[in-house]
Amino acid sequence: MPYRGRFAPSPTGPLHLGSLIAAIASYLDARHSNGSWLVRIEDLDPPREDRGAADSILYSLQCHGLHWDENVLYQHTRNSAYNAALISLADRGHLFRCGCNRITLSKSGACLDNCRTSQTTISDPTAIRIRVPLDQDIFFKDRLQGPAYSPLGQSLTDFVVRRRDELYAYQLAVVVDDAEQSITHVLRGSDLLDSTPRQIFLQQRLALATPSYCHLPVITTKQGQKFSKQNHAPALDNSKASSNLRSALRFLHQCEPPATLASVEQLLAYAIEHWSLERVPAILSMPAANIGLST
Ligand SMILES: [Zn+2]
Repeated sequence: MPYRGRFAPSPTGPLHLGSLIAAIASYLDARHSNGSWLVRIEDLDPPREDRGAADSILYSLQCHGLHWDENVLYQHTRNSAYNAALISLADRGHLFRCGCNRITLSKSGACLDNCRTSQTTISDPTAIRIRVPLDQDIFFKDRLQGPAYSPLGQSLTDFVVRRRDELYAYQLAVVVDDAEQSITHVLRGSDLLDSTPRQIFLQQRLALATPSYCHLPVITTKQGQKFSKQNHAPALDNSKASSNLRSALRFLHQCEPPATLASVEQLLAYAIEHWSLERVPAILSMPAANIGLST
């Protein structure tokens, strides 16, 4: 199968160094393998999104020389595909309506009522959950973090696939879109490691292929918080693209490009040729201070 990788940001703010690291790792891994690299905008939750953030992210990627193949896929255009996946699951009896509210849900968000035995319809304004058998295990081998095991049926019973507000759940959308884009390799931040067993379970239920997964360390502040808009991660300065790329490569422990390479095109050509996943630290997070940045 030809290699197809992707970068899939949520447009909640401008591109910052944390998201650039995930973008460049997935880009280099794809290009080093002569593969395609696609971009998907995960604009599934319009109230949480900034107007203009998607365009700003795409513009920043271009400024950093990260040019994608094919058309950008926007999740807000994909409701009919998500609905088709729900219908396919419902037809085989895998879904049920859950009318629980914050008071009746457990702390972890599990449905404690008898919703599981209620009849499935997908037109009512209730949350829709997928049945997870109690003995459901998920195993996968992460290319960086190693073998992973999740007792999914014990830890996360019957998770939500469509929310009460009728928005499709992130896990369902990602699985349907990775299949639509024929993604073979996913490289993303370790903050999504927890989501992977649910995504693999959905792939199995929908008879979709499971891509290879690789969860990268996420960059954190001195206090150990993930870089994000909420933590005031600074937007990348597009006029310093070469310097930003060098920071991202340093974070990923890649060969330092010679100082004579100045343009983003030269830096990326060097980085593609020398890309080595073995050099990336197999840890979940690393402070920005480790690469000489103050936060
Ligand atoms: Zn319930």
